[in-house]
Amino acid sequence: MRWTNAKLKDLQARLASAYPDAKCALDHADPFQLVVATVLSAQCTDSRVNITTPALFGKYPDAARLAKGKTADVEALVKSTGFFRNKAKNLLGLANALMMRHGGQVPNDAAQLAALPGVGQKTANVVLANAFGVPALAVDTHIFRVAKRLGLSEANTPEKVEADLCRLFLRADWIELHHQLIFHGRRCCDARKPDCAHCPVFETCPTGTGKIADPHSGLTFAVQEARDGSGFPATQNAFLNTSPEAPKRIISLVPSLTELLVQWGLASRLVGRTRYCIAPKWIRATVPDVGGTKDPNLQRILDLKPDLVILEKDENPKSIADALTEAAIPWMALDIRTLKDCMAAWIWLGEKLGALDQAKARAAEFKILIKPKPHKGPRTLTLVWKDPWIAAGPDTYVGDLVRQSGFTPQAAKGYPRLSEEELDALNPEVILLPTEPFRFTKRHALELQKRFPNALVHIVDGQAMTWYLSRTELGLECLRALLKC
Ligand code: SF4
Repeated sequence: MRWTNAKLKDLQARLASAYPDAKCALDHADPFQLVVATVLSAQCTDSRVNITTPALFGKYPDAARLAKGKTADVEALVKSTGFFRNKAKNLLGLANALMMRHGGQVPNDAAQLAALPGVGQKTANVVLANAFGVPALAVDTHIFRVAKRLGLSEANTPEKVEADLCRLFLRADWIELHHQLIFHGRRCCDARKPDCAHCPVFETCPTGTGKIADPHSGLTFAVQEARDGSGFPATQNAFLNTSPEAPKRIISLVPSLTELLVQWGLASRLVGRTRYCIAPKWIRATVPDVGGTKDPNLQRILDLKPDLVILEKDENPKSIADALTEAAIPWMALDIRTLKDCMAAWIWLGEKLGALDQAKARAAEFKILIKPKPHKGPRTLTLVWKDPWIAAGPDTYVGDLVRQSGFTPQAAKGYPRLSEEELDALNPEVILLPTEPFRFTKRHALELQKRFPNALVHIVDGQAMTWYLSRTELGLECLRALLKC
């Protein structure tokens, strides 16, 4: 990713507004305490160091007293920070070096600091920045991870990442940025479970937006984050492994997707399905059922040890996606709104599932059927439910199928509920009654025909109209045939 000055400024503004409290998290009263605390923070949390240092500084408040300390005593005082023998040895060596070379004072020079026992470039930078206000950008594990995820650096060592960051950002901003990136890594961009759904810098992040695989884990995160109020944490994959190995234990909570996997010869990889995944018929006898689409049984899903769960944004509960994320199980949620979405989804799924040739061929054949500017045909109302009446609006997959078939879809966006008055006011020229999800029958068609004597009322194959991906071509064919009636 290319970072322009404007983009860098935007990133900094977002970080500043998200972490106004960003500062050094190690408690210290002077440069000596800071350098000691920083040495102790290696492989240890700052909060653990802050619990440990009061007793240590109570007994050894300066370099002079620590230089005379006994190894066993210092070890006992720093034991809880881990690697205590090595850390105690370094602290005693550090105190002695400070006494011999710097009169007991911590130097404010990078080279002199880095030459002290237990003090590397990172510790030296932390001390320079926080004890002396010297611009420095120490790269710790959080900054290393976040910088790479944000595409600020592609380097593979902290020193090189530091060099990249120093090149990109103004010297005057280094100290502040250092703290902000650490806060971001701790509070949001976690190593295992980054909270991309609530990330303040999401839009600027090539990893969070799925443009690149996570340099830290090799996983690809949310391709399109749900900031549309749906409540779904991500509309596409949250943790879809990008390894060349295609998933082998797939659970599908989407009936049409289940059918698509069978069409692509991937049935042997299906280890679970919902009870509504009923096509082809034999799938019911061979693939275990994990419950309904609205209420899938989480435990059953987990017991099947899937390496991919496929959901649908509108139909499946967000809690399942959250629970899968919690259990580190890869999942993806389909969000198909148009016929073009279908073509993109075929390719994307084909790539991820190892069926790219079939996917490309299918998308290419289908592309020929799509009209860039479909003819504006009769005003058409597609009802998907009764009591209350619910219509499929023009911005839904069904709406686009209707439009591409030569009808003009009516009703408001989404799936609006219609009062009797609103239904009358629409005064459609054509009414489509799919047999799914509501089982519209001839009786309903007759009722509506009486109510709208000038309209053409058709009962249509609900699966052809709503099972995207597996029956998209069939849906288009059926509706186009209907237009000719
Ligand atoms: S979008 Fe995700 S990966 Fe990117 S910085 Fe935010 S939390 Fe980290």
